[in-house]
Amino acid sequence: MADEARHPPRLPGKRPARLPGPPKPGPAGKATPQKTGLETIKEESRGLRGTVAQALQSDADHFDEAEKQILKFHGLYQQDDRDRRKEGKHYAFMVRSKIPGGRLTASQYLVHEALADGYGNGTLRITTRQDFQLHGVLKGDLRASLRAINQSLVTTLGACGDLVRNVMCCPVPVADDPVLAQIEALAQRLSDHFTPRTRAYHEIWLDGEKVYNGAGGEEPIYGEGYLPRKFKIAVARPGDNCVDVYTQDVGLVAVAEDGAVLGFNLLAGGGMGMTHKKPETFPRLADALAFVTPAEAVPVVEQIVRIQREHGDRTDRRQARLKYLIHRWGVDRFRRELERRLGYALPPPAPTPPLDLDLHLGWHAQGDGRWFLGLSVENGRIQDAGARRLKTALHEIVDTFRPGVRLTANHDLLLTDLCERDRAGVEAVLCAHGVLREDELSNARKYAMACPALPTCGLALAESERVLPAVLDEIERDLAAFGLAGEKLSIRMTGCPNGCARPYVADLGFVGRSADRYAVFVGGRRDGTRLNQLFRDLVPLGELAAAVRPLLALFAQRRAPGEAFGDFCDRLGLDALQSLTATPASHEHAR
Ligand code: SF4
Repeated sequence: MADEARHPPRLPGKRPARLPGPPKPGPAGKATPQKTGLETIKEESRGLRGTVAQALQSDADHFDEAEKQILKFHGLYQQDDRDRRKEGKHYAFMVRSKIPGGRLTASQYLVHEALADGYGNGTLRITTRQDFQLHGVLKGDLRASLRAINQSLVTTLGACGDLVRNVMCCPVPVADDPVLAQIEALAQRLSDHFTPRTRAYHEIWLDGEKVYNGAGGEEPIYGEGYLPRKFKIAVARPGDNCVDVYTQDVGLVAVAEDGAVLGFNLLAGGGMGMTHKKPETFPRLADALAFVTPAEAVPVVEQIVRIQREHGDRTDRRQARLKYLIHRWGVDRFRRELERRLGYALPPPAPTPPLDLDLHLGWHAQGDGRWFLGLSVENGRIQDAGARRLKTALHEIVDTFRPGVRLTANHDLLLTDLCERDRAGVEAVLCAHGVLREDELSNARKYAMACPALPTCGLALAESERVLPAVLDEIERDLAAFGLAGEKLSIRMTGCPNGCARPYVADLGFVGRSADRYAVFVGGRRDGTRLNQLFRDLVPLGELAAAVRPLLALFAQRRAPGEAFGDFCDRLGLDALQSLTATPASHEHAR
C-alpha cells in the first residue's frame, strides 16, 4: 500500500491549517526554500504524539491532516474507499505490521488472520518489504487491533513514516547455513537499533504510562524531526538478490568464505520512486561504497542515517530521499563525509558472486531434518477467491502443523520447520482448497508483483493488483504462442510512479499514469541490477499485452542463446525496439 507518500501533504482543497504558505523572498529577492509543512508537523508532534490520543476519544470516523501524518509513524494509513467516493468518503485504515526479515510464528500469523476477519476486510496483504497489512480497519477498532498485534510480540511502530522502515533480509530458514543466521541476526540488530524510542506509541495504543520528556529527547538517532523521508535497509546473502538490495537506501551484501560472514559490501542511494514528467525525480540503483565488517555494520549505517537526517532535503519531499543527496553530492563526497564521521577510511567493496533472484518456492530441506515450503501468493493477497481458497488452506495448515511463517520480498510466503511426516498432510490441504503448486504456475506469474493501488491507496492513479492477473493471462498466452512459456520474466505493476512493487528493475514494468493508462518500461534485470527504460507511454490497460506482444515476438526471433528478455531489450536499445515494433496504434499512445 501507500508505502510511498512521495508527495507533499498538500491535498487539493484540504490545506491543513498548520502548513506554511509559499516561500518568502530572501534578502537577494530570491525565494528561500522553506521546510515542508510535514516537517513542522513532525517537530511539533512531541515525539509522535500530536493530538492523536484526543482524536481517538472523538466520534469522528477519521483524523485531521496533522494526526494523519503522525499516524504513519505508528504504522497506520488513513484511507477511504475510492470505489465509493461518489457517495462520500468512507474512511478506514491500513494497519502495517513491521516484521524484520518477514519472520513470524504460527501464533503471530493466526493473530493477524483473526484481525483481518474481525476488524479488516477479511484479507491479509504481504507487502514487498516482508510486512503484513490489514486493510479496512475502522477508527474505533484501531486500538484493539494494535493491542492484539503487540500482545503477539509484533509491532506496527515504524512500519511507515519518515524513519527506518522494516529491515529486510533473505527469509530462507536453512539451519546448516551459518551465513543465513548471521544475515538474519544483522537484520534484527538493525531493526532494533533504528526502532523509534518514543513512548508515544505505548501511551496512545497500549495504555502506557505518560512519560514525555521534552522535544526530541526521546530519539537519540532521529531527533524531533525524524528523517526527511522514509529510509529502507535490506541485507542480502551471497548470490541471491531476493530482497532487491540495489533498490534500498542502504543495502548490505554478505561477503562469506567457508560458511562464515567476513563482512558486507555496503551499498547506498537506491530508491524506486519518481514522478511522471519530472526528470529531476528518478529511480536509482544504490552505489557500492565500501566493505564493512559485521561489527562495523550497525554503526556505519547509523552514520549514513545521521548524514541523511542532517543533509537530506526537508524543503521538497520529492527530493528528500537519500538517493538525491548522493546524486547531488556524488559518491566520493558522500563516502568522504561518512569516513570523516567514522574517523577512519573504509576499504573498497570486496568481490562477490553475481546475484540472482531466488523466489524460494516449492519444498526445500532446511538442513535440520525438517522442510520449508515456499508458496506463491498472487499479488501478496491472502484471501479466498473463488476456487482458490488460500486463506482457508493456510489457516488449516498453520493451526494444525504449527509451522513458522516467513514473508518474502516478492510478497510470497514460506511455511517452515515442517517434519517429513507433515508434508503429505500439508499438500492435501492445499489441494483440497485449490491452491496451485509452484509447478502449476507459469514463471511469468511467479515472478510478477503488483502493489495494492485501488481502491485503498490514496496515491493510486490507476489499478494494479486488481487488474494484473488478467494482463498476465494474455501475456502467458502470448509467451506460449511464441514458444517462450518457460521464460523467467519479471513483470511488475504499480498504480502510480512511487514504485512500491519496484517496477523499475523488472524485465517489464507497468506504471500507472492516469485512470486506465500506463507507462511501459522494458529492459530491467530480474536480479535487480539494472534499471529499465520507458518504452511506451499512456498505454490503455486493455492494450498492455498488445503493446508488449511485438517485443516478445522479436525476442523469440532474435534472442541470443540463453539471453533473458530484459537483457535482449537492453542490448537492442530503446530506439531499435521502438522502430522494430512500431505500429500506428503505438504511435498514437506515445502522443
Ligand atoms: Fe505505492 Fe501503488 Fe499506492 Fe503508488 S499506487 S503509492 S505504488 S501502493
